[in-house]
Amino acid sequence: MGTSQRLANLLDSAVHTPAARGLASASRELTGLLLPSLCVLCGERDGAVCPGCAPHLAADLLQPFRAERDAAALPLRFTQPASAPVPVVAAARYGGEASRALLAFKDHGRTSVVRFLRPAVYRALGSVPELLGIQGPFTVVPVPASAAGFRRRGLDPVEELLGGPLPPGWTVARGWLAHRRRPLLTAPRHRTSHAGTGSRQRRSGSRDRFRPTRRLSAEAAEAARNGGRSVVVFDDVMTTGSTLAATWLALEHGGIRPAGAVVLAAVTAPGSVGDGGLNSGWGTY
Ligand SMILES: [Zn+2]
Repeated sequence: MGTSQRLANLLDSAVHTPAARGLASASRELTGLLLPSLCVLCGERDGAVCPGCAPHLAADLLQPFRAERDAAALPLRFTQPASAPVPVVAAARYGGEASRALLAFKDHGRTSVVRFLRPAVYRALGSVPELLGIQGPFTVVPVPASAAGFRRRGLDPVEELLGGPLPPGWTVARGWLAHRRRPLLTAPRHRTSHAGTGSRQRRSGSRDRFRPTRRLSAEAAEAARNGGRSVVVFDDVMTTGSTLAATWLALEHGGIRPAGAVVLAAVTAPGSVGDGGLNSGWGTY
């Protein structure tokens, strides 16, 4: 075996070691750090979101819509003729340009992308009176970041998204909720064969993640004295709705009854969006 062949074999085996794989992943991250100016959507042109991609992102975020229908873990509200999930407004469907930009911002350190997302937060909050049929003034309660998430990212994405201008009549309530310290019970207490209990278990299982703080009690009492404000929960992404549910229930434990929720991106079933949008009728998608 010649020297070059031995070298080739050596390199070949080296790239499959855990250390080499770790190095490769570190190198990818380093590349991201060294090339922070490339567009998060096309990866080719300059800018956090390049001038070519910005209109596509804006189009993805143009039309807030009611998104609660596919979120099985949302709390139910008793309405006639049947119970319905609590109402949620989303700025975009998860899966498009908006969610790619959100992930780059949240998990890949592209913090400057937030300025392309804040106008969508503004628009979604601004659509609440029309889409949810409730009136201001409004208090928006951000879903609390976990300590681990904050350490990993060095920022709280939800707070950052709410850090831009808000529509008139909106204020952010900070520090109303905290994570409970004790670990969650993850195993179900007992299994059941009854169909239809799964979503009920999910609804109840998420109840204890957050707790109301003393600040909530103090500020809620003051707000009640000064006349009512509509309280709206805010999160970046909704999948099943379990995080919104936990937030919702913690607020209720603190004596606050939220009127609805707003998210930047919501996971929706194909064909389920189109009704309830600001400008759309049925069958838009
Ligand atoms: Zn681009």
